[in-house]
Amino acid sequence: MEQQSDTSNRGTIEENLDVLVSTQTVIKRALDKLGYPEQVFELLREPLRVMHVRIPIRMDDGSVKVFTGYRAQHNDAVGPTKGGVRFHPEVTEGEVKALSIWMSLKAGIVDLPYGGGKGGIICDPRQMSFRELERLSRGYVRAISQIVGPTKDIPAPDVFTNSQIMAWMMDEYSRIREFDSPGFITGKPLVLGGSRGRETATAKGVTIMIREAAKKRNLSLKDARVVIQGFGNAGSFLAKFMNDSGAKVIAISDAYGALHDEDGLDIEYLLDRRDSFGTVTNLFKETISNQELLELDCDILVPAAVENQITAANAHRIKAGIVVEAANGPTTLDATRILSERGILLVPDVLASAGGVTVSYFEWVQNNQGYYWSDKEVEDKLEEIMVKAFENVYQSSQTRKVDMRLAAYMVGVRKMAEASRFRGWV
Ligand code: GLU
Repeated sequence: MEQQSDTSNRGTIEENLDVLVSTQTVIKRALDKLGYPEQVFELLREPLRVMHVRIPIRMDDGSVKVFTGYRAQHNDAVGPTKGGVRFHPEVTEGEVKALSIWMSLKAGIVDLPYGGGKGGIICDPRQMSFRELERLSRGYVRAISQIVGPTKDIPAPDVFTNSQIMAWMMDEYSRIREFDSPGFITGKPLVLGGSRGRETATAKGVTIMIREAAKKRNLSLKDARVVIQGFGNAGSFLAKFMNDSGAKVIAISDAYGALHDEDGLDIEYLLDRRDSFGTVTNLFKETISNQELLELDCDILVPAAVENQITAANAHRIKAGIVVEAANGPTTLDATRILSERGILLVPDVLASAGGVTVSYFEWVQNNQGYYWSDKEVEDKLEEIMVKAFENVYQSSQTRKVDMRLAAYMVGVRKMAEASRFRGWV
């Protein structure tokens, strides 16, 4: 499962940490730069649809608990909306909305025929039993079934959800519709129509981004010192891929702390010992904080946990030359500006983490065709798409003289704005 971090790098008091407000700010800048009129921003600044549901669940002790969930659909001008479902105690409606907008941008950047969607349930899966989680997953699908479907809105995994949860959700949806519907959701187990390479896709995509960014900085990955915040789905596989490529992973972290070793950590051992929520630091006596981890001397820093980790409060102290965002929203806008002024190459979330949704798209295509691809086919197609997306954003940032985040938004928003115009919405 993907994981979270408890670090609170709360920025300066003036800094706005509301992720919806920050994404709206950059969308506005991107649309202005591209010369779109105000009404396009008016359309895109909020999701077209947000469903708020209350899900009563019978707990193992016989009591009933009512959970709150959301599904946001940002814009479906390009195609059905697409994006994960997050199970986390700190889920808010605003966060889910922002995450749905980011999914639209990702789909635009890697040129998928989708708009963005996102779901979330306020819950702590670490405190729930297997059967309680199954009932919650099924209850959520029953609650949102009217607005989702293989040609409407296609969910997927996100923080603290995994292929088992996708399997329950797919089963529940298929029961409601009374026909097998593998294309309703992606990130499924292989035996239920999942795609080869989906589990590692986000980390594979991030690995490609690191390689391309390193090329631009003439940095050899061999012996490069890498720091990864988060040991969930993205962070753990990324640590493995970095290790395999000859780079030195000198620090990793989970929600409770971080491990640091200048000679490189034993990644295989850590992968072996992590639990399904990505927790591993509790097995060690000598740990450092997530805050200290971010500021370590290294070549490449990868925040792969949750939002608002690099803020105006610590951006001045980041020592990495390259920051690649595997998490959604780990760097605030003020911090983005500071990193850019300091000449640090930032590969933004909407580009860096788009490998996951790309292979989700492959999974959906395979489900629609009923024909399944090999590992190599998935890998080659992912490689081609991610390299092209990186080059596109990098070149835009150079020619338009804007930072990589604004460049990524400009690339990501264009197709959606055009599709909305052709449909006569704006
Ligand atoms: N939750 C992932 C993301 O934020 C994947 C979404 C998907 O596969 O649809 O990009």
